[in-house]
Amino acid sequence: MDLGLADQVVVVCGASRGIGYAAAELFAAERAALVVVSRNAASLDAATGRLRALGATVTPIVADLAQPEGPAHVIDGVMRVHGRCDVLVTNTGGPVTGSALGHDWDAWTAASELLLRSAVELTRGLVPGMRERRWGRVIGITSIAVKKPVPSLVLSNSLRAAVTGYYRTLADEVAADGVTVNTVLPGYTATERLDELADATVQRTGVSRESVFGRWTAETPAARLGTPHEVAAAIAFLASRHAGFITGQALCVDGGASRTLL
Ligand code: NAD
Repeated sequence: MDLGLADQVVVVCGASRGIGYAAAELFAAERAALVVVSRNAASLDAATGRLRALGATVTPIVADLAQPEGPAHVIDGVMRVHGRCDVLVTNTGGPVTGSALGHDWDAWTAASELLLRSAVELTRGLVPGMRERRWGRVIGITSIAVKKPVPSLVLSNSLRAAVTGYYRTLADEVAADGVTVNTVLPGYTATERLDELADATVQRTGVSRESVFGRWTAETPAARLGTPHEVAAAIAFLASRHAGFITGQALCVDGGASRTLL
């Protein structure tokens, strides 16, 4: 299916690996004008090279979105190179693990900067132009944690809910201007982030790596982990011309793991 994104300016954050990179590959195949963002210059360079090898036009922007100046640096770069953004995919790495009583306020602030502030600042910088042009797509990557809190991930459980509330509010405010706003909730997806979570669980509980992955698979009715490309496909569809009447939604891509009625 042609997603209708040729020459559209698509900004994908957290795009050097994992779900963000997989999304960038799909947008590259659509001949979008890609902007990829990540904090690590070497891994972003490598990702940019792979995307260019697919024939994509790619602008890499190195920015740490957990730092106050990160989102503004991205917005400046996008406006300098393209003068507009048509599709914004907000995404970063996940926050550190920990229990509800375990984090001091500095940890809460750091996780808020990483997850909530980055999404809000990028959106406030890039969505007004979409409204003026009367077309745009915003897709926030959150987590299955929004439907079903994940043990020992209180920062994710709490702040993904805040991001969802922000985007659900925005969706109503901009819908009549042709801008859709949705979130995508990955379930257990085979990326380096999941490897890191497995390592943290092994350290915390002493159980084997195999049993950690076995539990995640058992929690998933599809009886396997998802792939980054399966999550990316949902992101690409929501960004497409075809998805213009879908807004304010929180779409799980989780092999059924959220087990909710709605
Ligand atoms: P990942 O850690 O593999 O990749 C994250 C990407 O974001 C990388 O490109 C990294 O360089 C970039 N990044 C991290 N911190 C950044 C920062 N401060 N500034 C700019 N870029 C930054 O993660 P993933 O598995 O692809 O997941 C993407 C998102 O989805 C994460 O927020 C993750 O917590 C969430 N999620 C993942 C899973 C899963 O099973 N993989 C499940 C639920 C939610």
